[in-house]
Amino acid sequence: MKERLKTLVIDSNGAGWKYVLVDTMLRGVLHLRADESILPAPIRHHLLARRLLGERYEHLSYVFDWREALCAAPELDVEVCTNINNFVEYRRWREAIASYPLIIVLHSAAGDSLSLLLRTSHWFQRRRGKLVVFIGNEYDLMVEKFDFLRATGADFACSQLPIEAARWLTYRAAWSKREAAKSGRRNTLEASVAKLYASESAMFITHQALQIHGGMGYSKEMPLERYFRDAKITEIYEGTSEIQRMVIARLETGLR
Ligand SMILES: Cc1cc2nc3c(=O)[nH]c(=O)nc-3n(C[C@H](O)[C@H](O)[C@H](O)COP(=O)(O)OP(=O)(O)OC[C@H]3O[C@@H](n4cnc5c(N)ncnc54)[C@H](O)[C@@H]3O)c2cc1C
Repeated sequence: MKERLKTLVIDSNGAGWKYVLVDTMLRGVLHLRADESILPAPIRHHLLARRLLGERYEHLSYVFDWREALCAAPELDVEVCTNINNFVEYRRWREAIASYPLIIVLHSAAGDSLSLLLRTSHWFQRRRGKLVVFIGNEYDLMVEKFDFLRATGADFACSQLPIEAARWLTYRAAWSKREAAKSGRRNTLEASVAKLYASESAMFITHQALQIHGGMGYSKEMPLERYFRDAKITEIYEGTSEIQRMVIARLETGLR
């Protein structure tokens, strides 16, 4: 059997100032000192921490989906670090971070703020292994996320929402086309919504991907410049985005 790749998944449970403060202070107060040779346990399971912090994100399954999928992957030998909220514990990771050939930063690691990750981006710079960052769905944090990607030179960035949403809107449009054939009703609205959203998502994703790759992404040596142009044209042909918006607005409101 092929050797499993030693992988560190960096995850967390909210990174707002309250969480960071409680996590860092509680470990000191309760003397929850971790053995430096092993990975520290997440503090959120401690009763007092639960009382102070509440069960934040505990019920948001999407926060855990990626972690569970990665942990179950037979190719990977995964260890999970949930301690980036803790100034003291996270510092202890410095040496460990360098030793993993693959590090995956989940979007939940960013939580409400990327400030902790940004502050430690130099730890990631020094290592040689691959770095994968899930940038997730919090578009309001995009600038910080791209700062982190640029600072660490991440190998891959993954975004989940636009692609999945576009896929399902397209399935819905296809299904409504079949239903329309049976009922005689038109499916213009579903088709326009899917076309508009998928085109603009493709443009958004390739634009961000090109930005990460910088000048090389723009050059013809990389396939990305072609993806970027292919995405752009979908906003123009088969009904431009402006025309799709007009079609949707008219159908939604009944106004002409
Ligand atoms: C690679 C490629 C392949 C193509 N393939 C085909 C094909 O196979 N068959 C075919 O028939 N055509 C094809 N086209 C043509 C394509 O459908 C048109 O380019 C498209 O409809 C836009 O028309 P236009 O270029 O004349 O731009 P314009 O109509 O001049 O539009 C320019 C801009 O103004 C906006 N605009 C225009 N009118 C309005 C309005 N009333 N309200 C708000 N905004 C508006 C548009 O959204 C757009 O942003 C292709 C084009 C390209 C580039």
